[in-house]
Amino acid sequence: MSKKADVVIIGGGITGCAILYQLAKYDLKCVLLEKEPDIAAGTTKANSAILHAGFDAKPGSLKAKMNVKGNALYHDLKDELDLDIKWTGSVVAATTEVEMTTVKELLERGRGNGVTGLEIWDGDKIREHYPTLSPDIKGGLWAPTAGICCPFGTAIAFAENAVMNGAEIYRDCGVTSFNISDGRIVSVETAKGCFKAKVFINAAGLRADDIARLAGDDSFNIKPRKGEYILFDKSAAQQMTDGIIFPAPSKNSKGILVCATFDGNVFIGPDANDQDDKENTKVTYEGMDGLMAAARKLLPEIPVRSAITEFAGLRAVSDNGDFILGKSDKVPNLVHAAGIQSPGLTSAPAIGEYIADIVVKELEAEPNTDYVSGRPARNVFHTADNAQRAAMIAKNPLYGRVICRCETITEGEIVDAIKRPCGATTVDGVKRRTRAGMGRCQGGFCGPKVIHILARELHIPVSEVRKDRLDGVMYYDKDWKDGGNV
Ligand SMILES: Cc1cc2nc3c(=O)[nH]c(=O)nc-3n(C[C@H](O)[C@H](O)[C@H](O)COP(=O)(O)OP(=O)(O)OC[C@H]3O[C@@H](n4cnc5c(N)ncnc54)[C@H](O)[C@@H]3O)c2cc1C
Repeated sequence: MSKKADVVIIGGGITGCAILYQLAKYDLKCVLLEKEPDIAAGTTKANSAILHAGFDAKPGSLKAKMNVKGNALYHDLKDELDLDIKWTGSVVAATTEVEMTTVKELLERGRGNGVTGLEIWDGDKIREHYPTLSPDIKGGLWAPTAGICCPFGTAIAFAENAVMNGAEIYRDCGVTSFNISDGRIVSVETAKGCFKAKVFINAAGLRADDIARLAGDDSFNIKPRKGEYILFDKSAAQQMTDGIIFPAPSKNSKGILVCATFDGNVFIGPDANDQDDKENTKVTYEGMDGLMAAARKLLPEIPVRSAITEFAGLRAVSDNGDFILGKSDKVPNLVHAAGIQSPGLTSAPAIGEYIADIVVKELEAEPNTDYVSGRPARNVFHTADNAQRAAMIAKNPLYGRVICRCETITEGEIVDAIKRPCGATTVDGVKRRTRAGMGRCQGGFCGPKVIHILARELHIPVSEVRKDRLDGVMYYDKDWKDGGNV
């Protein structure tokens, strides 16, 4: 039996989730299909998490338009969806006169793109704000509208609101083929059966060209461009930075930056290496060495021993280097949101509006009169004061059991993460929603406990609890009981 919808979105990264969020405001039955066991498990989980001001992209490009508009939209969305965002501003730091010329070009480009508040700072002013930076920095571009966010948390927030408003999200549900009649898509086949719809949206990230081709559209290619990172413990922040420090950009990327995260860690990266493999997110010795050498030009003293993990993300680079947004020329009811490389995270709310507008006109959709804004409140223990903590524990004693000691994440929060709309079903799903496992021990202590909580709440054996997008099961400690409660 086929399931029926008005709109099927393929891909549950920030792009697919932002589109779903916008479409949920209309009287449309919307379904999102994600091949992995969780949303936000592709490129959306591994990037620099910067809400860019918008001075990089070529004037007139979709990237430039979506970046500046997306950044502005996040200012309202922060309150509406309770998003984890800090508006820190960013600096592009130049160490040579040639790089200063590039910085001045970025100023002009940014002004042309409509970015407000841009200023050129000299080296002393930069070091006044960021005292740990190199004495070699001659000056740079200050962009007050930039910020840092939690990228997977943002995608999850979009999804939670959409699900509250009637949208459906199917995970472990990869699209494998299309059923086409008279050149139009009738339905898609997936691991969870057939889905019929009037309009299909291609937000499949690195696989967007494969999805387009499956439907009969071979008009573009996507190539992966890898970026590796080193992540540092929160204790390193004082020695490093609490801001966003870019070097002068290269042709292929914004360069290797030193940057704080929303939760107070610091990272250096990413580099930019083209490759053919769309799954290879391995980090390399050469990559790590290259990151350290490049970052030391901005920040001479890097506390290497405070590094807690490394990771890599893959940019989905299209043939023309720009976003591909709009109806397919070859398949009339296929709409692409493809080639969404950086600044795709920043652009997501604007892309969501842009694509929703096309669909709403096509289907002549009316507003959803029952639409509810926001999402369920989050109980966050580690940021609560003592009175708030006492109230949380009085309401539910599980908030009194700390499971992740590095990040002070409680069992109550982990259970919430599993039970919320589009809740976690994997260990990394819990990590992305709560930060359990993101601290210095990287889940070494709390991982087995999280597995047991997932097994209990999902009513599955511990041996079936999955880590993330990997097939198979995670190691587990079958004797771990902890008082028999978990
Ligand atoms: C190194 C790096 C740094 C970056 N830094 C920034 C930054 O600081 N600021 C910024 O704005 N942007 C940044 N970006 C870009 C940003 O991360 C991406 O633009 C954004 O995450 C893309 O989201 P997406 O939803 O399009 O793709 P994805 O997150 O990859 O989502 C696509 C989804 O489609 C699913 N899918 C694929 N095939 C199928 C199928 N057959 N059926 C069902 N589902 C399928 C995938 O599993 C995946 O979950 C960076 C990117 C990288 C790699």
